[in-house]
Amino acid sequence: MSSNDFIIIAIDGGAASGKSSTARALSERFHLLHVDTGSFYRAVTAELLCRHVNHADLPAVRAALAALQFGTRVAGRFAGMEINGRVAGDEIRSKEVNEHVSFFAAVPELRQALLAYQRGQVEVARRHGFRGLVMEGRDIGSVILPDADFRFFLHAEPMERARRRVAQGQQDTIHERDRLDSSRKTSPLTCPPGAIVIDSTRLTLEEVVATMAAPIAARLAAP
Ligand code: C5P
Repeated sequence: MSSNDFIIIAIDGGAASGKSSTARALSERFHLLHVDTGSFYRAVTAELLCRHVNHADLPAVRAALAALQFGTRVAGRFAGMEINGRVAGDEIRSKEVNEHVSFFAAVPELRQALLAYQRGQVEVARRHGFRGLVMEGRDIGSVILPDADFRFFLHAEPMERARRRVAQGQQDTIHERDRLDSSRKTSPLTCPPGAIVIDSTRLTLEEVVATMAAPIAARLAAP
């Protein structure tokens, strides 16, 4: 990879492991498009809940998905998902979405419906003149972008993760979501082979970002 190359960074990890804060910081530092795939699953979940679709009712999930058109609205460095022309708001962080999202995310048809869309964000980043993209989620390094230039896996002790959510003012079922996300059959939460594993429990955000930025900066500086 030369310094002119487009860089692709995958960050995976459980709920409240620090993916979004670190992805945001890396996107600023290296001028990357920030793609939060959790926000995609949340937006689709909010939309399906709004349509009174039950995750266990597969024909209803399929029919609802067929009626959804996905697009991307780039705001600053963030890739916001449009569903039928509308970008979802704060409702995607609601208690109701927190409680349902992992059930919808375990439906293979729903994951399939988002696969090409997520990969398509690479092209969105190129079109908008970014130097690359940083994509965060549960299966980015393993399934969505397995050829990413850098793969990171973040984790933190349960008490610390719960503390972070409370500090963000959110009611979240992080342990239950992790349990469901790790045990589902399709694309479970997993540490991709070759990923750099970082335990952020006793690290500041700046320290985590510095650990991730070091190999990226070194690679970009290489002739
Ligand atoms: O990242 P965040 O916690 O906002 O993700 C919400 C949920 O979306 C996760 O708990 C998981 O069920 C689902 N998700 C997923 N695969 C991804 C990103 C998120 O299954 N790549």
